[in-house]
Amino acid sequence: MSVYVKFKIKGSKNKHLIIWTTTPWTLPSNTGVMVNPKFDYAEVKIGKEIWILAKDRLSELRRMDIKFNLKKMFKGRELNGVEYENPLSKNLKLPKLKNAYRVILNERYVNFDEGTGLVHTAPGCGKEDFEAAQKENLPVVSIVNIDRTFGKEGGKYAGKKARIVDSEIIDDLEKGNALVYKELYKHEYPICWRCKSPLIMISVPQWFFKISSIHKNLLNSNKQVAWVPGYMQLRMNAWLEGISDWPISRNRYWGTPLPIWKCDKCDKTKVIGSISELEKLSKSKIKEIHKPEIDKVYWKCDCKGNMKRIPEVLDVWFDSGVSSWAALNYPQNKKLFGKFWPADLNIEGKDQFRGWWNSQLILSEIRFEKKPYENILVHGMILDIGKIKMSKSLGNIISPPEVIEKYGRDEMRYYFAKNSKGEDFAFDEKEFKEIQNFFRILNNVNNFVNKLETKKSTLKLEDKWILSRFNSFLEDVEKSYNRFRFPEVIQKLERFVIDDLSKTYIKIIRERENEVYNILNKIRNDLLVVLSPISPFITENIWQQLRKKKIVKEESVHLCRWP
Ligand SMILES: [Zn+2]
Ligand SMILES: [Zn+2]
Repeated sequence: MSVYVKFKIKGSKNKHLIIWTTTPWTLPSNTGVMVNPKFDYAEVKIGKEIWILAKDRLSELRRMDIKFNLKKMFKGRELNGVEYENPLSKNLKLPKLKNAYRVILNERYVNFDEGTGLVHTAPGCGKEDFEAAQKENLPVVSIVNIDRTFGKEGGKYAGKKARIVDSEIIDDLEKGNALVYKELYKHEYPICWRCKSPLIMISVPQWFFKISSIHKNLLNSNKQVAWVPGYMQLRMNAWLEGISDWPISRNRYWGTPLPIWKCDKCDKTKVIGSISELEKLSKSKIKEIHKPEIDKVYWKCDCKGNMKRIPEVLDVWFDSGVSSWAALNYPQNKKLFGKFWPADLNIEGKDQFRGWWNSQLILSEIRFEKKPYENILVHGMILDIGKIKMSKSLGNIISPPEVIEKYGRDEMRYYFAKNSKGEDFAFDEKEFKEIQNFFRILNNVNNFVNKLETKKSTLKLEDKWILSRFNSFLEDVEKSYNRFRFPEVIQKLERFVIDDLSKTYIKIIRERENEVYNILNKIRNDLLVVLSPISPFITENIWQQLRKKKIVKEESVHLCRWP
């Protein structure tokens, strides 16, 4: 149901602001009306009354078959600060509100797509309203409880449920001559993702981390992180620029209980830092620090009230943000922590700017004034061949086991190392032909070297060339590895193995192939080591064959030093 409602302008005889809403239950929480300063508004005469609404929304009156005379037009900014009366006030039991029931200006949330161009603002019932109200100092009224019943302040609506109370509110508006029009109206409405019941939005006090006091450090720390690809640093920067205080409390049962105790009499609060501190204060042995046991722990306040835990648990992103400390058993084991923290590398998808990278950075800055990671490798999401997100409902998912079954585990790893460059990319099976071709060439080189005899000879020009090429390749590829640029590694590897080694050098030395065994043997063995991080199984398999022939000594390719 949507309603058009008259808000009588304070001190006037018959002048009204006309607002529109699809949620009548939020009208008791109304404390303001938003108007766009740049838009044109109109005063129209209807019988003995004067109504104010946006010029471009006068069509609404025609639609309702309401006859009117246009009296005058003006810009929205002229309405700034105009005070009005909430037609439901007499039914409510609100405390005296300061600065309430007045017009505020807002360009962002006032448009002419629907309604009257005057936006009913209930800061306790929605994020946008809350934000606009904070900026303009409108008071927040929170009449509705978490179980969606109206509290005492709801007056005659107390105990009734949001949404269900709509029809009673509409009746009251009608009786008070404040209702312009009502109609059934189809619109989008948020629902519970699990049980699909409609949701209501209310504002409740929460605990926050004060980001503003570490904002500069966050931005500076991000600049010290080596992002791969490099431009991702700017994306993180843009995210960090926009964040405000972090609400860390949740009204749920499951989760890490917030370690804050509060006196039920004088409101004194105490943040607990350890189990032993809690044991000292409560003079009891703490066996379980989760709900429900933890909520039984209390002690006497100086004022003789009881210090009890607040009911909230922590946002799960807090847990994620301290995971690297917890994994090293910090703070119990400071030695391990000192050795391995901060992390050398984080590898994650690009959905983590606002998630894990954000929570880690904030908590590490708060606790250690230090960044929690040195390098971050960002990978994109894998789309289907038509660049559409893979999803169960679309049936376009290609699962890793399928790919492994068809092409092999190492081939899949090679594929991702080659193609994952930070942005989303389409999974293209055709590329596996090339990958299989690469491994075929590698195999051919291996077999070729294995059948060579070991004649001695002096280095020819082509030998010097391939050794020189190989040495600069090693140097180059090491740099790419150290910067976590795996697509570069593959590119350099393919250029050397396919072009330089297979297509050029081996062709040149065919006539004297038995003279170059030592050169080719060294290159082959070192290549296995270079490729082993990307394709650990194929390289190890060849390595073990060479070991049997006593060509190499090390127990495994993965235990070799970098060449
Ligand atoms: Zn639900
Ligand atoms: Zn107290």
